[in-house]
Amino acid sequence: MQAQSRKWRLAKKSIGFVPTMGALHEGHLELVRACRKENDVTIASVYVNPLQFGPKEDFAKYPRTLEKDLKMLQGEKVNAVFTPSDKEMYPAGFSTSVEVKGPLMQGLCAPFRPGHFNGVATVVVKLLGAVMPDRLYLGQKDAQQLAVLRQVIKDLNMDIETISCPTVREHDGLAMSSRNQGLTLEGRKTAPALYKALKVGKSIVELGETQAEKVLEEIRKVIEDEKNVKIQYLEAVNPETLVPVTEIKPGTMIALATYLDNVRLIDNIVI
Ligand code: AMP
Repeated sequence: MQAQSRKWRLAKKSIGFVPTMGALHEGHLELVRACRKENDVTIASVYVNPLQFGPKEDFAKYPRTLEKDLKMLQGEKVNAVFTPSDKEMYPAGFSTSVEVKGPLMQGLCAPFRPGHFNGVATVVVKLLGAVMPDRLYLGQKDAQQLAVLRQVIKDLNMDIETISCPTVREHDGLAMSSRNQGLTLEGRKTAPALYKALKVGKSIVELGETQAEKVLEEIRKVIEDEKNVKIQYLEAVNPETLVPVTEIKPGTMIALATYLDNVRLIDNIVI
C-alpha cells in the first residue's frame, strides 16, 4: 500500500482515503463519492479491527461481505482498496497503541465501550501510515469517532485534512449501518423511531424550548413508547468538544445509543 501511495504522491496526485469495516452500504458509498470529487486518487480500506471491539461485543458476528464490497467499490471507481489481514496489522510483537484522554472520552459511547476509541485511534493511525492520504473522509453518524480522530490527527501533527459527510438514511429515516442487518423484521420496523424521536426534539427546540433536560425528556418519551428499545444514553452536547450542554443552541448535537434486538444502534442530530 505504501509503495503504491508513494508513487501517487511522487506523481503529485492528491489522495483521499475512506476507511471502513466493510458490509458496505450507501453511507459508505457517499463517503467514496465525496472523496472522488475532491481528490485525484481515492483509496478505501476494508478491515474489521479486532482492537476496537470489547470482549462482549459483536466482533465475531460483525458482517463480512468482502466480495460484494469490492464490487461496490469497483462500481464507484476507487483506485485501490486496502484489505490488510490481522497478521499484517498486528504481527507478533506489536506493542504500540494510541490512547486518547480528556473530555472527548468522558461522555456518549466512551464510558460504555472502554477501549473502543483507543482501538479506533490505533488502527486509523496505522491505516493513515500505510495509505499516506491528504484527506480523510468520515461519517457524521459516528460523531464521537469523528471528534476523536480530528483530535488525534491534530495532536500527532499529521498533515491530513478530515472531512465529515452527512449521515445517509433509509427512506424511513433509519441511519444506515452495517449493524442494521442484525435486526429482526420486528426490530427493523421499530428502528426508525430513533430518528423520529430526534426530529421531535429538534422541532421542540424550533418551537422555543431550549432547556436540554426538557427536550431530552420528550425524546426519551417517544423512544420509550416503543417496545424492545433500551436507551443506553441520550445527551445534548457541543459537537466539537462533546461537552454536555444545559441550553440547546443552533449547532448543539443531540446523540443517542440504544439497544434493539441486542443490536446497538447510534444516531444523532444537529440542531
Ligand atoms: P464503519 O464501516 O461502520 O466503521 O464506517 C466507516 C465509515 O463510514 C465511518 O466514517 C462511518 O462514520 C461512515 N458511515 C457509516 N454509516 C454511515 C451513514 N449511514 N452515513 C454516513 N456515513 C456513514
